[in-house]
Amino acid sequence: MGSAFRQSDYKGEDVMTEELNPFKIAQRELEMAGKRLGLDKAMTEFLKWPMREFVYTIPLKMDNGSVQVLRAYRVQYNNARGPCKGGLRWHPAETIDTVRALAAWMTWKTAMMDIPLGGGKGGVTVDPKKLSASEKERLARGYIRCVASELGAFKDVPAPDVYTDPQIMAWMMDEYETIVRMNSPSVITGKPIPLGGSQGRGDATARGGVYCMREAAKAIGMNTRGATMAIQGFGNAGQFAATLGPEILGLKLLAASDSQGGVYSDNGIDPVALVAHKMKTGKVAGFPGTKPISNDELLELQVDVLIPAALENVITAKNCNKIKAKIQCELANGPTTPDSDEVLYKNGVLVLPDFLANAGGVTVSYFEQVQGTYNYFWTLEDVHKQLDAHMTKAFKDVYEMSKKEKVHMRAAAYMVAVKRVADAVKLRGWV
Ligand code: NAD
Repeated sequence: MGSAFRQSDYKGEDVMTEELNPFKIAQRELEMAGKRLGLDKAMTEFLKWPMREFVYTIPLKMDNGSVQVLRAYRVQYNNARGPCKGGLRWHPAETIDTVRALAAWMTWKTAMMDIPLGGGKGGVTVDPKKLSASEKERLARGYIRCVASELGAFKDVPAPDVYTDPQIMAWMMDEYETIVRMNSPSVITGKPIPLGGSQGRGDATARGGVYCMREAAKAIGMNTRGATMAIQGFGNAGQFAATLGPEILGLKLLAASDSQGGVYSDNGIDPVALVAHKMKTGKVAGFPGTKPISNDELLELQVDVLIPAALENVITAKNCNKIKAKIQCELANGPTTPDSDEVLYKNGVLVLPDFLANAGGVTVSYFEQVQGTYNYFWTLEDVHKQLDAHMTKAFKDVYEMSKKEKVHMRAAAYMVAVKRVADAVKLRGWV
């Protein structure tokens, strides 16, 4: 497999409708934060665009001898605060604009977490479900051969995302080390533990969200012991939230759902038994001692904590007035539409926005990068302690900004993040 390479200099000509184009949405959000912060025009314009984009054409040799020609991307959005960081997605609907948007969001997420990294993202337009293991390995290695000169612990560090996993990271690391002829585990994170992965990566997203909920509860004077929660989505994020919420905070699970429907019980649901039931049957429905509940009904339940952990755009103009939770902890990306944010804020729902609530994953990725760079690995306890400290500080920074500027938590998170990146850009003398 070889590669053709070009550095793109075009701006937004991809064919997507305006409302659905995630990069246009990301740019609008940035403009709004810039306005609130009083950034000057040049700074806003600079932060609205990726600093560098790479587009590749990869010919992938298939097991049957044919060749599939694939488009691949890496976007380095901004590195003013440190090396770029962000996952690699293999998805049939991947475009340069989805990658740009996700790279922008990574820039704001690392800045809001105050970790010394910038933002990046990569992807390949491909249906990985149709690839064999050996085809996946050739694609992983081929991608790295394209992008290797742009990667490195002090340049740009990818990680797993949609349809990429620790095994794919291992092949990528191996190919990179073959090219640069030295050990270089920090070129990529999300690796298997024997190859330099970090302890605590598996449940980091949900655990970070739970730490954040604990701080939110303190801020609003809510006792979490015996407080109730409902979780929409019962995959990686939702299942760990279901078990860690009770374990760390004493929360009681009243309802949970997945794509095939939900379950509810007034008396509470044993989360460990529900996870076992889901593993065995592939769904939460039918769990003994519960009543069925729809995904829409679950969102509107009288609970203290609501955790959307499935899809985007589930809290909309239609139902936002009916959300009764005191805290909404967004483990899913983009569950709330922009107009609903204002309504939830007026109704006194404390929203922990996605890029704060689910930042535990990237934070432990950063820990993996740090551990690999100095070749010394932390215990699980060390990881939990550091994750707790980072999540607690991030919550407090955003909550204080929200109080000071009288804006909802998502707007406050953007303000904290964009200000940090703009300050770094200014100090470097770029704008
Ligand atoms: P997953 O694929 O493991 O689980 C998704 C769950 O959502 C499944 O249980 C699925 O049945 C359910 N679901 C799908 N359609 C649904 C519907 N219409 N109604 C209710 N449930 C539905 O995914 P995940 O890794 O848990 O990610 C979930 C969300 O969290 C995504 O938005 C993802 O971007 C976000 N997130 C996850 C991580 C992570 O580390 N896993 C990190 C950051 C953000």
